[in-house]
This record gives sequence, C-alpha cells and structure tokens, in this order.
Amino acid sequence: MLTKIIRLDPLNFSLEQLQEAINLIRKDEIVAFPTETVYGLGGSAFSETAVRKIYKAKGRPSDNPMIVHISDLEMLSSIVNIIPENIRKLCERFWPGPLTILFEKSEKIPDIVTAGLNTVAVRMPSHPIALALIKTLRIPIAAPSANLSTRPSPTEAKHVFNDLQGKIPLIIDSGSCNVGVESTVIDVHKGYSVILRPGGVSLEDLKSFLPMIEVFNNKNKEFSNDFKPLTPGLKYRHYSPKAEIILVEGSKKFLEEKIVSLYFKYRLQKKLIGILHTHKNIQIPSEILNDPKCKMIYLGLMDSDIDTNNLINANKIAEGLFSTLRAVDNQKIDLVIVEGISEKEIGLAIMNRLRKAASKIIKE
Ligand code: AMP
Ligand code: MG
Repeated sequence: MLTKIIRLDPLNFSLEQLQEAINLIRKDEIVAFPTETVYGLGGSAFSETAVRKIYKAKGRPSDNPMIVHISDLEMLSSIVNIIPENIRKLCERFWPGPLTILFEKSEKIPDIVTAGLNTVAVRMPSHPIALALIKTLRIPIAAPSANLSTRPSPTEAKHVFNDLQGKIPLIIDSGSCNVGVESTVIDVHKGYSVILRPGGVSLEDLKSFLPMIEVFNNKNKEFSNDFKPLTPGLKYRHYSPKAEIILVEGSKKFLEEKIVSLYFKYRLQKKLIGILHTHKNIQIPSEILNDPKCKMIYLGLMDSDIDTNNLINANKIAEGLFSTLRAVDNQKIDLVIVEGISEKEIGLAIMNRLRKAASKIIKE
C-alpha cells in the first residue's frame, strides 16, 4: 500500500482538503491525523472493520482499548448511556482539550473499540484539523496514537511515516503537536476519582474541580495475561527507543554525582552515551562534555531547581520529549542518562513516560 501525505496548515485549511480523509474513513479505512497531544491513527468508532485495521497496523495488543474522539456534546450523548451532571461540568470546563474521561458505553460502540470493557474512553480534541474532521464526518473517531506499539508516540508526521509507511493509506501532516504528551485519562465514579494515565491536563488543574482526585497506583497489582487492570494500557512497555534509558531522580547534588558515576561506569562498554540535560544549574564536568563518546541532548533547560519546575520549560520538555527519544536512535546513541524533573504540573506526565521508557531508574 502506498502511504500518501497531505500537508495542511492548521490555521488555514479548507474542507475540500479534508475530503480524501473523510472518504477513506467512510469506507472503513484508517487515517493518521494531528491532534494537540500526539498524532492519532483513526477510523470510524462504529466500524469493527476499521478498528481491526488500527490494531493490526500498530501491532497493538487487542486487550488495549482505544480513545473515541468527538467534536461536540451531542455526539457524546449518542455513544454513552449516561452523562452524570458532575462529569458534564468537567467536560464543559476541559473540552476541547487533552482530557479523556471514561463513560458507560452504549451499544452503538462495538466491543472491539473498548477491548470488551463496558466503559468507553472519550475525548474532544482541540486541534482544528481533528475537530473539523470529526464534525464534517458526523462520526466519532476511534484513535490510539499513530505509532507502532511500544515505540514513542508520534508528534510529527514523519514519525508516523517512519512507523506506518506502507501500512496505512493517508497521513495528514500539519506540523508538530504542541502538547507533546498524550491526554490525561480519568475515571470518575460516585465514590472516587482517579487519574489512570497522567497527561496534558495536570493533577493540579483537575483538583480545582475534583478535590479528592488521586493518581492510580498499580504497584501492588500483579499483571498477568488474563488479568485486565483498570486501564489495560498500563501493563505494556511503552515509549521506548532502541537505546537503553537510565533515569536518575533526586536532588541536584545526587544527579550531578550519579551522572558522572554512571557515565564512567558505562563509558568503556558503550559506543555513544547521551546525557539528556534538563536543568541549566546541573553541572556536567568538562571532561565528559569534551569526551567524543558523549552526546549532550539539551531539552527544555530549566533555570529553576529540580523541585520547582519552571512551567514554560517543562511544557517545552513535554513538546520535545518523544521526538528526542526517536532522535536518539537516529544518532546511534546506545545509552541515554536522563536527568529527572519535578512531578509538578506537566512534569507528572513527563516523568510517567520517562519511567516507562527507562530500563533502569536510579532514585535518591
Ligand atoms: P493511546 O491510544 O495510546 O493514547 O492509549 C489510550 C489509553 O487509554 C490506554 O492507556 C488505554 O488503556 C486507555 N483506555 C482506553 N479505553 C479505556 C477504558 N475503557 N478503560 C480504561 N482505560 C482505557
Ligand atoms: Mg499510545
């Protein structure tokens, strides 16, 4: 299959330019399209055929359900059984935007979309192209991230092309995604509210609406193949470049010491070692900086201390995180030592992705 790429300006495009994508989705085909979080691989949420194609193209395990994307609240009413009043308020506050909410699913959504669960995860994206596509189709779009399973999520069309070339008919390219990490997934019940996956909407922002909300902790659960955790995606390896990732978490002093000791520990075994540097005030000795085996990767570069995230720079880290993880492989780096950041605001989602990408985590 030939994979076509259409370039669209998100601030200046016409509905005619979306026609090819619309026709494909109407014919149970699948299309990669931009959202504000990452690129999605979408098909009609009413079509088993389309959804099966998504699982196949990505190599996604069939027990990992998809998010259904909608363009207005009327569409929400058509795919869920009830919309509790407190959740409607939440939708009105955070949509369109990077928040995914679980609902009791209606029969219109085939089981394959939700991997057999009786809940469906729904979100209204804010990206103008995603919204226009769904609005014009008048069909909700089931879409996971448009990467091969286990690879970092795509934040540029070329990432999608590298992973799915020849497997999908069309990619809509509209530049890079500005949030850079996926949506926050939440489950709100009468008794509790939990963040199943931290993402583009922060815990702090959610707390102003849901004061009791907490982050789901799977530490005490044992995952086996036939056990379905609350959010099935949690049990899978994710976001991983081919290079080995070692994540270091702690104070400035701890990071400075560990980066040096890890660097020299692995220096002889590895061809090229990357240091993913996120804080200006963390000192990397010139002996390492000048070593031809060292590749410095600067991301976000915060002025502030480790425990006080500077929000603008943390947002930049989120935006560049996945493309940095992909670039590591292109540069033939075989080990990356990563400076952890504070879990404040978007930092929680960033650290969640880094911990999943890491093969080793070294904590103070
Ligand atoms: P992705 O499509 O890569 O953005 O991943 C979607 C995430 O939402 C995965 O972690 C899924 O496990 C999670 N998810 C989707 N639907 C449900 C659901 N009905 N219940 C719980 N988690 C879900
Ligand atoms: Mg994904």
